[in-house]
Parts: sequence; structure tokens; C-alpha cells
Amino acid sequence: MSETQIELTNINKHYGTFHALKDINLRIEKGTFVALVGPSGCGKSTLLRSLAGLESISGGAIRIAGEVVNQVPPRKRDVAMVFQSYALYPHMKVAENLTYSLRLRGVSKADARKAAEEIATTTGLTGLLDRYPRELSGGQRQRVAMGRAIIRHPKAFLFDEPLSNLDAALRVQMRKEIRALHDRLGATSVYVTHDQIEAMTMADYVVVMRDGIIEQQGRPLELYDTPANKFVAGFIGSPAMNFVTGTIAASGADVVLDLPDAPVVALGRQADPGRKVLVGLRPEHLSLVPLEQASIKVPVLVVESTGSMTYVTTDTTPQLTLVEQSRSDIKAGDNVGVRIEPHHIHLFDGATEKAI
Ligand code: ATP
Repeated sequence: MSETQIELTNINKHYGTFHALKDINLRIEKGTFVALVGPSGCGKSTLLRSLAGLESISGGAIRIAGEVVNQVPPRKRDVAMVFQSYALYPHMKVAENLTYSLRLRGVSKADARKAAEEIATTTGLTGLLDRYPRELSGGQRQRVAMGRAIIRHPKAFLFDEPLSNLDAALRVQMRKEIRALHDRLGATSVYVTHDQIEAMTMADYVVVMRDGIIEQQGRPLELYDTPANKFVAGFIGSPAMNFVTGTIAASGADVVLDLPDAPVVALGRQADPGRKVLVGLRPEHLSLVPLEQASIKVPVLVVESTGSMTYVTTDTTPQLTLVEQSRSDIKAGDNVGVRIEPHHIHLFDGATEKAI
């Protein structure tokens, strides 16, 4: 049976007249890795900081391991924050940074050193214990910040964009390290990021936020396969989903797209005739085909190749992006045929933008 480690009930947060968190409800099971993701200003850091006790909430209840902690100060909540700035003490060596909290609790110097050595093994810092933070790379500093959190055996790890300062290659590596560490420790982790790829690849459960509300929460592939609305559909997935307005045909089985020549595309299901819709098409689900097999025929604006993949942007309004998992000899100015499979069509209501 799963056990709830963190429970947020009707969390509201006001900064003066600004309503930063609006009725947030979230349950986090013990041992899960949860990502809070959303564009800048959506409230994800505020939510994490509220969980840590660094912000007071205006309403609702925060429970950690069953206990309401609304009035409990940060250091007594038994959660560990890991920041992008690392927040290491510059005048202390790695070993002292790692064991600072133990020493405060009265652990002897010798025992603290032993604990530091164990943590160094877990986090890949062996041999670096006697260096100062300034003598470490960004990735190593991040590991010290994580080691310092681990040494406290917290009830949960709270990460606030911990990888933002690292270069792209190191981010990818640290992503795996953090996830592996989480698994090894059997930890419960809440991880804030604006990067949907990070959220999708690291987390068991993803919470997509916008303007202080949760737009959708679920397993990564659930969000990818069945986004609840246009916002989530456009936010999850890279390159982003294409959206074309259209009208459901009189038959209810096709959609007429607002593209040149008003192409009629089969839906593979029934919808309300005449309904104004937004059709969502993921770039990876559009394939280049000979013109006679095409659902739509479109001129090409740009072709970009990465070696393994080809990205094609069409010269249409709106533009469409396609990704081919292979090389292609098409070029700008060509007219290409594009196949749209009915089971890959996402439909959203034209007005509410909710999934149909
Ligand atoms: P980012 O990725 O840019 O950090 P975020 O999703 O983490 O964004 P928050 O930092 O949680 O966003 O901020 C949410 C909203 O609350 C923003 O509109 C921000 O301007 C506002 N806000 C945050 N802190 C304060 C504050 N101390 N006083 C007033 N408004 C604040």
C-alpha cells in the first residue's frame, strides 16, 4: 500500500493583493519523485517554499508524514532544500559543509568525518572533502549541496531548479545522478523546474502549473498522451505541439482545417458537426509522404538537420513543424505531402481550449 508523505489541501497564497497560489491540492506518495513545472511566475517556487516553511501560506493545510506543519518552522519540518545557488559556506571545506548540520546537533568531529566520507562515496565526492567550494566545478558543488541534504535523512528533498547554473551536458548527467540517488535512498523528492524535458525524464509524477493553479497532474506519459487542455498540450513535448483551428464537418467524422485549400482530415471518431475546434498535432506524429497519399499538401519554409533528425517548418499560417527521424533531401520551397493519422489528432474546444 502506498503511503502519503506530503499532502497539500486547498493551499492559497496571497502577496498583498496578488493571488500567487489558488486552491492547490496535491498528494505525494512516499518514495515518489514529483516535478512541479510551469512557465516563469506560475507559482512553483512559491509552492515549494511554502512546503519548506520559507513562505507562510494564506490558507489551506500542509501535511508532512501526516502532521499538519503550517505553524512548524522550517528547520523543524525535517525537509531538505537544494537550491540552484548551492548555498554552500565558502569559508568551510567540503567535509565541513556536508556535516554542518550534524555538528550543530552535537555529533563529534570524528563521527562527522566518518559521515562525510560515507556521503562522499554516495555522491561521488571522494577525494574532495578537504577542498573549499571555490575549488570545485559547478557539478561538484551541486553534489555537495545534495550531500548536505542527504546527511540529514530528511522526510523529503525539495529541489528548486538545482541545475539551472550548469551547462547542457552536465545538466543531463546531473539529472541522471539526482534520479539515481533518489532511487538509492528511497527518498521522496519534489523538484521545481521550468524545463519540461527535465520534468518528464526525471519524475514519476508531473504537476503542470500556470498562474497559480494546477493545470494538470499525472504520470509523464499520461500528460503527453492525454493533455487536459491546450496549455498542457503545448507545454509538454518538444518541439511543441502544432495547433490549427478548424471546424468539425457536417458528417461529424472529419475536421476541416483552416489551412490553404481547407483540407478535410478524418478524425477516427465522432465530434459535434459545426463545432469550432483547435486541432493539436505533435511534430513527431506528422510524416512526410508522397503527395498522392497526403492528408495535407504544404510548402516548405525551412529545413534543419541535426544529423539524425530533420526538422521541417512549413510556409503556412500557422506554421507547422514536423520532425522526421531520418535524413531527407527536401528543401525550402518544395511542396510536400504530410500524413496525419487520425489516432494522433488531439482536439480542443475552440473557445475553452479544453480537450474534447
Ligand atoms: P520562476 O521560474 O521565474 O522562479 P515561479 O513559477 O517559481 O517562477 P514564483 O517565484 O513562485 O514563480 O512566483 C509566483 C508569482 O508570485 C510571480 O508572479 C511573482 O512575481 C510573485 N511573487 C513571488 N514572490 C513575491 C513576493 N515576495 N511579493 C510579491 N509577489 C511575489
